[in-house]
Amino acid sequence: MRLIDSHVHLDGLGDAEGALVRAREAGLVGIVAVGGSIQSSEMALAAAERHRGFVFAGVGVHPSEALKVGVDEAVAYASSHAFKTVVIGEIGLDYAYGWARPPEVRERMRTLYEALLAVAEGNRLPVSVHSRSAYGDALRLLRGRDLPGAVFHWYDGPLQTLKEILDGGYYVSATPAAAYSKGHRAVVSEAPLERLLVETDSPVLLRGEGRVSEPADVALTVEAVARIKDLEPEEVARVSSRNAETLFRLPLV
Ligand SMILES: [Zn+2]
Repeated sequence: MRLIDSHVHLDGLGDAEGALVRAREAGLVGIVAVGGSIQSSEMALAAAERHRGFVFAGVGVHPSEALKVGVDEAVAYASSHAFKTVVIGEIGLDYAYGWARPPEVRERMRTLYEALLAVAEGNRLPVSVHSRSAYGDALRLLRGRDLPGAVFHWYDGPLQTLKEILDGGYYVSATPAAAYSKGHRAVVSEAPLERLLVETDSPVLLRGEGRVSEPADVALTVEAVARIKDLEPEEVARVSSRNAETLFRLPLV
């Protein structure tokens, strides 16, 4: 199978280089390494440099960092490195954090998110969006931009918002949680394969396996999606890889 892991945090993996070797052995032909902070964006860029044509970098600031990184600093960093990336991400909103309850904190998250959406728009880059418990706002702010594309990563929000995401021409991505998460399974079932990417969001704890994920585990996502949609895993791999190549314009080698 020809697989692409469309959302990985390489900086979180203990042995990133070993994980990349195992990923190639597992049939992966591409990995999108997103950045969730300036430091992790640097690591993603460095990995993309070392593994040209296999690892592709995103630069971004995750909403969990919204109070730690200045908006101007984030914009300056993303703007000056955009030419080396395939995506601005991971960016977005997350209203599920306890510390994000005060309205001014949420406002700050939205300001950061909008500023990075503007960087993506200005550089004609797609975005990889984190939208937990903020699905409507994440979509609303994005829709006002003229972006070449977007993926709502690990989307498990309301199906009505999913419909609006799909109507807007955007993608959603599935993770290994497609094997067990009710909300995520409903999304995978509802979204057409032509709008679905697959990913691991490595490293996250794999339920029932007692270990964290790495990119090679994208095969688990493909199998879970195939079961939900009653398709062959090869078909899911082929179409989702093509979707990722289209969205991120990947120059695979
Ligand atoms: Zn992520």
